[in-house]
Amino acid sequence: MISASSSQEPLGFLRGGGELGALMRAKDWSTHPLGPPETWTQSIKTAVSLCLNSRFPILLWLGPELRIVYNNAYIPFLGETKHPAMLGAPGREAWSEIWPAIGPMHDEVRAGRATWVEDLQFFFARRLPLEEVYVTFSYSPILAEDARTLEGVFCVCTETTERVLGERRLSTLRDLGLRVSEQRTVDAACRKAVEVLDANPLDIPFAAIYLLDEDGATARRTAGARLSDDPSTFPTVFPLSEHAAHQPWPLAAVARTQKAVEVRNLPSRGGIFTAPLWPDLVQTALILPLEMQSQSALAGFFIVGISPRRVLDADYRSFLDLVAGHIAGGVADARAFESERRRAEALADIDRAKTIFFSNVSHEFRTPLTLMISPLEELLAKPEGELPEDGRVLVTMAHRNSLRLLKLVNMLLDFSRIEAGRAQAAYEPTDLSRFTAELASNFGSLCERAGLRFDIACPPLPQPVYVDRDMWEKIVLNLLSNAIKYTFEGGITVRMAATTDGVALRVSDTGIGIPTADLPQIFKRFHRIEGQKGRSFEGSGIGLALVQELVHLHCGIITAESKVGRGTTFTVGLPFGTGLPAGGAGRGSTLPVPHLRASGRLRRGGAAMAAQR
Ligand code: ADP
Repeated sequence: MISASSSQEPLGFLRGGGELGALMRAKDWSTHPLGPPETWTQSIKTAVSLCLNSRFPILLWLGPELRIVYNNAYIPFLGETKHPAMLGAPGREAWSEIWPAIGPMHDEVRAGRATWVEDLQFFFARRLPLEEVYVTFSYSPILAEDARTLEGVFCVCTETTERVLGERRLSTLRDLGLRVSEQRTVDAACRKAVEVLDANPLDIPFAAIYLLDEDGATARRTAGARLSDDPSTFPTVFPLSEHAAHQPWPLAAVARTQKAVEVRNLPSRGGIFTAPLWPDLVQTALILPLEMQSQSALAGFFIVGISPRRVLDADYRSFLDLVAGHIAGGVADARAFESERRRAEALADIDRAKTIFFSNVSHEFRTPLTLMISPLEELLAKPEGELPEDGRVLVTMAHRNSLRLLKLVNMLLDFSRIEAGRAQAAYEPTDLSRFTAELASNFGSLCERAGLRFDIACPPLPQPVYVDRDMWEKIVLNLLSNAIKYTFEGGITVRMAATTDGVALRVSDTGIGIPTADLPQIFKRFHRIEGQKGRSFEGSGIGLALVQELVHLHCGIITAESKVGRGTTFTVGLPFGTGLPAGGAGRGSTLPVPHLRASGRLRRGGAAMAAQR
């Protein structure tokens, strides 16, 4: 009993307070252990008045039995069984399910210490016998007028369940987004997904992912977290016929309707699952379809247990929908990746077959071509008079074009040999400046006839460079022939200089240039720039691709800079001898070509081209 002197208006402190104010006023306090309100102490009256008229949830624990008074804003904390029965009830009984957590806090207050706790987990008997709830609250003493006697405890509280659960679920979704989408195979994507779900046992007591076979008749378990040991509950293979005996999962119905199905009373349906952190049994599971955005067929199913301590409300449901969406997205991404890889492999196979075909064809062409060229040369060697003049003109034309064809066939053969990894290179220490100048000088008269300036600047280098001379010759000749072919005025310069760790050959011209959009393409096989005018229409689009392969065989790089109408510069950078693969240079021996293409650049380029054609 809390008593004090009466005042002018004894029940004035119970004014206001909405529903709770009305209940307080209507309640028969005459036989209640707290006694009639008009006899309560001033401290209690003030606390009760504050509580009733606050819009913030407040609970008062009054008297030695910590009897409960609360306000309107506090009602949502209570389930239907607690409100209004809790008004005036002893705290220990009314909140028995959380007393182990809050009892010690009352002891603190009794010891004279106010307390404050943030986001404390409770299990309220509210919508469920034990509902997972989070509360931030403070306990302060209500002291008598002597400022020492404890008459009650003033508790201001706010429920933070929505925020705590929101953050927890968001973190799961974020992890799913980060980790599932980067997987390269469907299995890995599913495994990663359940790994992430495993880290959130409070929302996901168990989870299984089943993916459908192509025919849609069988679902296979791809990944699972905390699944029961009983193999019949989560079989690895799940035939989808409506009569399949696997309880309790109606996968066939989900496949047919493409809608989620809630499976209730799991224990009575033969599925026994205990919640990971509590002794409670999981009662409900949800089967969500894994939908593929671009296809009407399902990818599979996501079976997930529902926490026995949370109601499957709209927030929980939309969280699980998003989880299923992430899994389906991850599966779709991984499938796209897998099919892209298969496509690339198929293209690489086609590319390899093509290389073999080129190689065989070029071989077959070479013999008859050589057999054609020698009789033509014999004819041309005949003294004047033995061959009529018009015949000589025709034979000359046939001879020139046969040589051109032979050149092309040889180039194709070179190229396919390198592509097939069968090229043999003999790296020799070479005075590369001198050798290059010699090769370039062959073009002097051609430039003169074409009315072009021709400069060669190849000063001595500090050390020899290891090159396969035949290959280097092809590099230089191809670059120079192109320069002449695509330059109509101005000139051509061949420059060679030492760099920090090797040499750089620059072949520059003042020709028509290459449009920026075409620059990345010019080293691709058979790529020719459309509508580009050259000195001759001859060309196959293979020259630069071959040059690039040859440069790569020397562990070098080739780049091109160009401005339309201003000219083009090709730069070939080669390392000095030590830069070549171990044992690959410096002995002057014939060695199999190092597989520089393992870098993948050319392979991918090749596959992409094959796709274009
Ligand atoms: P092609 O046999 O057609 O000359 P290449 O592989 O040698 O084949 O060259 C590919 C394309 O790059 C050419 O068709 C041409 O359009 C362009 N090209 C190469 N070199 C030059 C250059 N020096 N100036 C302008 N365009 C060039």
